[in-house]
Amino acid sequence: MRTRCEIWAPAKLNLGLSVLGRRMDGYHDILTRFVAVDLYDQLVFTRRISGGVSLHLQDVSAGVRPEGFPLDEGNLILKAVRLVERETGIRASLSVSIRKAIPIAAGLGGGSADAAAALLAMTRLYDIRVSRQELGAWGSQLGADIPFFLGESAALGRGRGDELSPIALFRQWWVILVTPPVFVSAKDVYGDLRLTLGAKAANFDDCRDREGFLAALRRSHNDLEAVVLRRAPEILLWQGRLREQGAAGVFVSGSGPTVFGVYMNQPPEETVQSLRGGGTGARVVVARPVTTPLALVVQ
Ligand code: ATP
Repeated sequence: MRTRCEIWAPAKLNLGLSVLGRRMDGYHDILTRFVAVDLYDQLVFTRRISGGVSLHLQDVSAGVRPEGFPLDEGNLILKAVRLVERETGIRASLSVSIRKAIPIAAGLGGGSADAAAALLAMTRLYDIRVSRQELGAWGSQLGADIPFFLGESAALGRGRGDELSPIALFRQWWVILVTPPVFVSAKDVYGDLRLTLGAKAANFDDCRDREGFLAALRRSHNDLEAVVLRRAPEILLWQGRLREQGAAGVFVSGSGPTVFGVYMNQPPEETVQSLRGGGTGARVVVARPVTTPLALVVQ
């Protein structure tokens, strides 16, 4: 029987996000291009004989503020375990150790990535025969971004973002992610949205080669950006700084506050260091697109 499972859960970016309308269930219909990047939370799930489920925050990367990380039933890892317990009748006993590198409540989907990792770990540790697609359907009850992390590493998301179709993506690029130390609530952002229905949805054409990718970047836009900027105007300054460094595109991810620049060459270390300077408290990280969303380190 497998007793240990290590999973690296990546962050996601939204390379463009169009809000198409408000739904009867209170959510919004969106169209977005999701891409997983190599900024990982590292999770180790260890099955034990008894004792229920406990979470241990081992380490938090510099600039990730752990205040928003619940260690109780509010944690999405625990919610995912409980969901599997309900679906299967299993009573889990697990210890989960977490090295958190994805900034919390940042528009990078860290909680959803961790939840997806927990769903996958449960299937491995308890030998549950369920397809990734079905696991994604379970996960969508907890959060609309979770199915993405159980699917392909680049996908178009429709509906709440949980109706996915894989996309072929050119991957020779880098991002500089900047997460300023401000809290922007996703709920408030969607609540404050002045819907521009009928406005042209971002272009989600083919971006499998460099030219197609660059053309797609030029036409992409995040409809949530205007609302996020009203709530955190310092993001405008960061957008300017990322453009000055030659970004091919600068976007807010999800409902922010993370903003990122896309670069066709690896950003020099001096650039990154200069963005880190000045005591702004922002977390500045360089990342690249990955080919597998959830990396199972130890089978
Ligand atoms: P999204 O882009 O999917 O909207 P996000 O990246 O903005 O999400 P998360 O880091 O997923 O935000 O956190 C959203 C909320 O979930 C936070 O308020 C946080 O307290 C809570 N949360 C619960 N479990 C976790 C977890 N394992 N990691 C991060 N946040 C968690």
